[in-house]
Amino acid sequence: MAFDSLTEKLQNIFKNLRSKGRLTEDDVKEALKEIKRALLAADVNFKVVKDFVKSVQERAVGQDVMNGLNPGQMVIKIVNEELVKLMGSQTTEIKLQPGSAITVIMMAGLQGAGKTTTTAKLAGKFKLKGKKPLLAACDVYRPAAIKQLQVNGEKQGVEVFSMGENHKPANIAKAALEHAQKNGNNIVILDTAGRLHIDEDMMEELQEIKNTVTVHQTILVIDAMTGQDAVNVAKEFHEKAGIDGVIVTKLDGDTRGGAALSVKAVTGKPILYVGMGEKLSDLEQFYPDRMASRILG
Ligand code: GDP
Repeated sequence: MAFDSLTEKLQNIFKNLRSKGRLTEDDVKEALKEIKRALLAADVNFKVVKDFVKSVQERAVGQDVMNGLNPGQMVIKIVNEELVKLMGSQTTEIKLQPGSAITVIMMAGLQGAGKTTTTAKLAGKFKLKGKKPLLAACDVYRPAAIKQLQVNGEKQGVEVFSMGENHKPANIAKAALEHAQKNGNNIVILDTAGRLHIDEDMMEELQEIKNTVTVHQTILVIDAMTGQDAVNVAKEFHEKAGIDGVIVTKLDGDTRGGAALSVKAVTGKPILYVGMGEKLSDLEQFYPDRMASRILG
């Protein structure tokens, strides 16, 4: 699981702090230096780490903490609160259109990030909430993608709309929306094509979809295993295409977890869900406070 190594390091730092009783300013500074090192080793973005440590330091070196009864505990509490803040404080729900209006959600991301799998996982979540989602197979480049979406859609008991590989993604999206209107679907999730890198073609394709149908939510899927690269991808995606939220996949893997910690601070957009495995049920809503507790162990 991600964060194992970070959790272990933080626990050692905190154990040391707690054992001291009274803290000097130097004790706090030393602990913060170690926290900084631990976060960098977990692949958290450098600027994010710097700002984080600065915020903790400003609060921790204040009179109340240094003169308090249990300064070690206070520092730990501050680190916890700042971690929650870093990840966005509140849980963000995917914003749906009011009443029976159809919400169009466009899934985007690089190839292999887990977009097609996550599309089906998300459909399952909506179905549990009593919605009637339709999945649209707009990834016409990766030969297996359409089949994969169909297989996963069937497992989830969710309809998949496909027109094969010989139509433009924007036209498929438009036809899928018409299909949804006729069939009473209230959510359409577009599984778009990824590429190995962000390139003009991919951005144009997403834009063309947006020009053809009204996309209410653009959700970027990033792979936690790729660490800082994932965060850079998110930043560039947001600058070029505009995103509303992020889903971080493969947090169950042997990742250092830094992407999950950095993405909100770097893009300003919240994490909505995290992927915790290959099974279609392995998608968890993202709670910044629970994630912080998990990290602190
Ligand atoms: P796409 O190219 O972005 O559509 O990626 P896919 O949905 O095909 O996923 C690529 C691989 O990642 C597949 O083998 C998925 O089973 C796997 N995958 C997706 N999400 C997760 C996750 O949260 N955890 C793990 N361990 N594997 C995942």
